[in-house]
Amino acid sequence: MYGAIGVELKGRLEEVREAGTFKTELVMTTPQGAHVEVEGRGEMLNLCANNYLGLANHPAIIAAAHEALDRWGYGMASVRFICGTQELHRQLEERLSEFLHTDETILFSSCFDANGGLFEALLDERDAVISDQLNHASIIDGIRLCKARRLRYGNSDMDELEARLREAADARYRLIATDGVFSMDGYLARLDAICGLAERYDALVMVDDSHAVGVSGPEGRGTPEHHGVVERVDIITGTLGKAVGGASGGYVSGRREVIEVLRQRARPYLFSNSLAPPVAAASLRALELIGSSHELRERLHHNTAHFRKRMTELEFEILPGEHPIVPVMVGSELRSARLAAELAARGVYAVSFSYPVVPRGTARIRTQMSAAHTIEDLDFAAEAFAAARARLD
Ligand SMILES: *Cc1c(COP(=O)(O)O)cnc(C)c1O
Repeated sequence: MYGAIGVELKGRLEEVREAGTFKTELVMTTPQGAHVEVEGRGEMLNLCANNYLGLANHPAIIAAAHEALDRWGYGMASVRFICGTQELHRQLEERLSEFLHTDETILFSSCFDANGGLFEALLDERDAVISDQLNHASIIDGIRLCKARRLRYGNSDMDELEARLREAADARYRLIATDGVFSMDGYLARLDAICGLAERYDALVMVDDSHAVGVSGPEGRGTPEHHGVVERVDIITGTLGKAVGGASGGYVSGRREVIEVLRQRARPYLFSNSLAPPVAAASLRALELIGSSHELRERLHHNTAHFRKRMTELEFEILPGEHPIVPVMVGSELRSARLAAELAARGVYAVSFSYPVVPRGTARIRTQMSAAHTIEDLDFAAEAFAAARARLD
């Protein structure tokens, strides 16, 4: 019977509101893109999508999805191992393996599910997982679901990682788990150093490259390519919901036996639906686009460099780097929220991130660049930042 809990939940919601962390969703009335229409606000320049290559509403991707809808149908109504595997799914897995230079790949409904199924299927109480403190929530949850000993190291702190590896010397297997890119800062994981330590202490390396696949590295293969450690990373997880089309879906890619065991044991794979055919086909087309041309990636990096330069000239504090995640540091939580509101009033859609998502006193507006932006868009955004700051001062 629904009684006391309803009253208590109402109280909890009130607490969230009072803490100023209540999330409201802006409703868009257009497809995803560099410019979107938002209910009650009109047209806005979008600086907060993970639409790095602008593929979320790209004509070639939409055409691929249309064709697949006609050729392969709408849905699978099954998990992979019962009657949910089409040629498309196999092709996408093979194409991902070729692209990432790995043995094999297994698809999931999302990267959240990929990370949710990975650890438990491979490791047990005799093993240890050593995890970066800033890893994505899905890695944290995946590790929680497995019985291995859990050890944590400070973000990219290689001394601490080494200490944890020593602590875990008695474990049967050691697995180091890291994001390829830390999403609040746009910093890349130090994969060269991590792989070096892994080799020294006989550990496996797992990288979640969701923010880097299609983006980082000369061919867009991600952070292992950027760091020249492709052969030394054992397991890569990633999403098809960011640069690679932007719809949904995730994968684990890596050593053959790892992937084969996941097909037999990973619970989100065994108990959740196959990727819909239009999404699988459009993801394949996205990989083709990414693999056959540098154009989109070059435009993305050109845009990123331009915006970083403009904002630096305007004396905003930008965290250094080359990634299209460009955090504009503000400091005070209140000021950051106000800056975002002033930006919105000027037609710029960007989100303020503050404690507890980032450490206290390091609130920021996280902007994300896209190949779909024009230089004019980014100049407009920089001017809006300057005007918003002037208004607050
Ligand atoms: C976005 C993201 C995910 C989740 O991906 P989905 O496919 O949307 O579930 C997982 N890990 C990292 C590091 C991410 O950035």
